Amino acid sequence: MPEKTYLDASKALEYLKTYEHPDGLAVDELMNSKIHGGLTYNDFLMLPGKISFGAHEVVTESRITRNVVLKTPFMSSPMDTVTEGDMAIAMALLGGIGVIHHNQSPEEQAAMVRRVKRHENGFITDPVVLSPSHRVDHVLDVKDRLGFAGIPITDTGALGGKLLGIVTNRDIQFRQPSTPLSEVMTTDLITAPEGVTLEEANDILRDSKKGKLPIVDKEGRLTSLLARSDLLKNQNFPLASKLPSSKQLYAAAAVGTRPADRLRLALLAEAGLDIVVLDSSQGNSVFQLEMIKWIKEKHPKLEVIAGNVVTREQAASLIAAGADALRVGMGSGSICITQEVMAVGRPQATAVYAVAEFASKFGVPVVADGGIQNVGHIVKALALGAGAVMMGGLLAGTTEAPGEYFYHEGKRVKAYRGMGSLEAMEQGKPMPTSAANGMTSNGSTKKKAATHENAATTRYFSESSAVKVAQGVSGDVQDKGSVKQFLPYLYTGLQHSFQDIGVKNVQQLREGVREGQVRFELRTASAQVEGGVHGLHSYTKRLFA
Ligand code: GDP
Ligand code: GDP
Ligand code: 5GP
Repeated sequence: MPEKTYLDASKALEYLKTYEHPDGLAVDELMNSKIHGGLTYNDFLMLPGKISFGAHEVVTESRITRNVVLKTPFMSSPMDTVTEGDMAIAMALLGGIGVIHHNQSPEEQAAMVRRVKRHENGFITDPVVLSPSHRVDHVLDVKDRLGFAGIPITDTGALGGKLLGIVTNRDIQFRQPSTPLSEVMTTDLITAPEGVTLEEANDILRDSKKGKLPIVDKEGRLTSLLARSDLLKNQNFPLASKLPSSKQLYAAAAVGTRPADRLRLALLAEAGLDIVVLDSSQGNSVFQLEMIKWIKEKHPKLEVIAGNVVTREQAASLIAAGADALRVGMGSGSICITQEVMAVGRPQATAVYAVAEFASKFGVPVVADGGIQNVGHIVKALALGAGAVMMGGLLAGTTEAPGEYFYHEGKRVKAYRGMGSLEAMEQGKPMPTSAANGMTSNGSTKKKAATHENAATTRYFSESSAVKVAQGVSGDVQDKGSVKQFLPYLYTGLQHSFQDIGVKNVQQLREGVREGQVRFELRTASAQVEGGVHGLHSYTKRLFA
């Protein structure tokens, strides 16, 4: 047999350049092919690149609206089984953001926004202040309502009054409720002068070994307060989503586009809201366009995430009206039956790519909403141009999601339901026993007097229909533990995936995709089977430890 001659192995990299295209597909070849239809996240894979750095070096920082950059691209859905105060606080502490749902009264929703904004601070510029004649039971009341008991005492009982003392937990322990604060307050105070930087004030606070540091002006009048526990929070949650100026957590909440939602939004804005999500299954409506314009005029500081959209044409209207970000997805959610019932929607990967490609030209980020089932889906959404992913089902079933755990067929579960499910639309009606068990006992998601327009019906434009057509289902999901473990898993998973692809941050991923260096591959049905666990008699799937 004649001997085969081979090329010089040391020239392999040079030889590679003789190929017209790199291996795999460029993003436009993948997404714009006329041969296959719209794609879901499962229909393609990303090809590995070159690893030249450690996974811990990967930075997942991402722009989620025109003016908000977060350290992780994770958002939780505005659903009444996903995001209330606890979830919103945990999401923000861990570097993402939770969008508080509006299937509750405006007052209840505003109270949740306020809790998020109060949770962490730099200088507390509006601290709760009492006077010497207030009593111990007044402090207990503040502790009950707001969670803290470190209260400066001024002559007027208000900020700007002369600082006379401070009352903390220990001062009121074992005291009669009727005792005046003048008898229990500490009066030898360590304070810092107005104008001190946050860094300097933190140093004074640390050295003082006290829990609070009141800041006073030259005349000894209280101007703000610093809490030691915030130093700890800052240390424990280095990725936290905070406003650079106040160090307060970002708060986001959803509203509809009805006239009553303008009043709701005013309450939320007063409570300190930063980002509003206009919650609609079909965002390209005159109601939403008017709402965006109205918000931009009346609440110019609010970032507006408009949606939902899945096409360039829908996106163009909302961008022109002033949206600061777009929420993309129709029918891709795990609890969703829109595509079945309405015959409208779009496979999510195609929707994200089509909208993000268009919106990026205007500097408008895109939130990939729905259908995120694992870390790989998050990476794919980011690669297709999303600035963030919004998750419902993946975060339902965590400790921080509303509702109580219950047992269903031997498994510990929590209720999870679509906002277009009949159960969510008819919030006043009893739910199936299993779901009702899970939803009623912690007070957060239990049925409340309908003092507000039902958010679920307005989201799906069914408020005026005699027959309610469901666009979602109601069920339960398995216990996932705390998001305080789950989100770090998603974050670390993302870092490892970026490492495999060979990109160090979201920007490099985007550029690599745009310039055709980050490559894709279509996944046939059998490729999907091959890519999953197969051929085992049985196995356990543990995702992180
Ligand atoms: P960081 O150290 O990465 O947080 O840097 P920053 O520029 O955000 O913070 C500047 C200063 O503010 C540092 O002294 C931080 O320790 C401090 N700081 C950051 N977040 C908080 C907070 O939530 N509360 C307080 N009191 N200080 C904070
Ligand atoms: P306390 O010792 O009971 O006052 O509570 P901590 O100091 O442990 O926690 C107070 C937390 O509540 C900190 O994260 C503060 O930033 C936050 N906070 C928000 N608003 C206020 C306020 O008006 N007064 C106080 N004391 N803390 C506030
Ligand atoms: P998941 O992360 O569970 O796949 O999807 C969550 C997303 O589904 C939500 O953010 C929201 O956009 C969407 N969604 C929530 N409830 C419903 C519903 O009842 N019907 C439909 N069509 N979509 C829903």
